[in-house]
Amino acid sequence: MRTIDQLSDDLGGLAGRTVLVRSDLNVPLDGQEITDDGRVRASVPTIERLAREGARVVVCAHLGRPKGAPEAKYSLAPVATRLDELLDDDITVSFVEETVGDRATAAVEALGDGDVLVLENLRFNPGETAKTDEERADFAQALAGLADGFVSDGFGVVHRAQASVYDVPRLLPHAAGGLVVSEVEVMRTLREDPRRPYAVILGGAKVSDKLGVIESLIAVADRLLIGGGMVFTFLKAQGHEVGTSLLEEDQVETVKGYLETAAERGVEIVLPTDVVVADSFSADAAHEVVPADGMPADRMGLDIGPDSEELFVGRLADAQTIFWNGPMGAFEMAPFASGTKAVAQALVDRTSAGALTVVGGGDSAAAVRDFGHTEDDFGHISTGGGASLEYLEGKDLPGLSVLED
Ligand code: ADP
Ligand code: MG
Repeated sequence: MRTIDQLSDDLGGLAGRTVLVRSDLNVPLDGQEITDDGRVRASVPTIERLAREGARVVVCAHLGRPKGAPEAKYSLAPVATRLDELLDDDITVSFVEETVGDRATAAVEALGDGDVLVLENLRFNPGETAKTDEERADFAQALAGLADGFVSDGFGVVHRAQASVYDVPRLLPHAAGGLVVSEVEVMRTLREDPRRPYAVILGGAKVSDKLGVIESLIAVADRLLIGGGMVFTFLKAQGHEVGTSLLEEDQVETVKGYLETAAERGVEIVLPTDVVVADSFSADAAHEVVPADGMPADRMGLDIGPDSEELFVGRLADAQTIFWNGPMGAFEMAPFASGTKAVAQALVDRTSAGALTVVGGGDSAAAVRDFGHTEDDFGHISTGGGASLEYLEGKDLPGLSVLED
């Protein structure tokens, strides 16, 4: 991928040049309050570097899933404020309530060397996420028209063929930012050169998104530990009752296939032996631990049970490489956080023992920070869940290939 140094050469130096940076600032918000600023922090080094070299930095990003029109609750304004707090004091940060248009152009023109401007949410414009190149073209042109060069630093979106990710770099001199470079380095190690034993833990709620990666992981990992919402499709594939738990009925046959392939290849699939079930999806729901092969028909599984925690921790104890994506349970509610805590602690312990530990996925990353762990407790906390999974699947990521030389 092209580097910022190469971009600087293309532009005859960055000083006085307007550089559009695609960052991933898609943080969880509670009203105006950012509940986990990990992605804002991760985007600081590239923005700061460009500003230090005298570029006029225009940051663009999306937040949430607005439907192609402005919606106050998805404004990037609070994120711009947080970015201002995190950047060095001598760097001026402004925000414009428009992505492209007269006000955005005026705000870009008002920038001095080393200043930073944050544009409003990209997804307030339908051109950002439109399916065809033609539908995205006008918006991409307008964005590209704001700047002299482009830096792609939003690793969390590089698997998307969207205007700010895929079309703009085809219109402007471009480079991969430091965050994208470091994320890709770690993911490449996981895909091509993991020290063994290599254990992968999968959980979370986006079951159908994540089932696809299992097939490719069976080819590289030594062990696959499954928890979270997707585990019920596995338990069902083994013929067990899963009550009202998350279930992808149409994936049960596929999962049976995975279990067979794994058995043939000698890849160990570790499933929970007990489950915390509740009568509803709420923090004060009555709950109890039941065997994984004895779930009542009217209950939903919201966490792995204590025996499973012990089993999972044991299967991580000698791992030299661990990749973890997706919480083991509905950890946002205290009664169902225990499995996720146990796995997080197991990774922290393996990090101190010298293993490479990688946490991927927005909610998983938020969970480990919520439990009080820091960046240093892990080898790497990825800012991109979907992107890292697609990379590990061996897919071609449009936002990465477009940055190649
Ligand atoms: P990540 O962002 O780390 O990739 P996901 O977005 O796939 O993870 O899933 C995170 C969500 O999964 C959390 O909000 C959590 O409450 C939910 N979850 C985990 N286990 C279960 C479960 N058994 N039933 C319902 N939701 C679950
Ligand atoms: Mg998530």
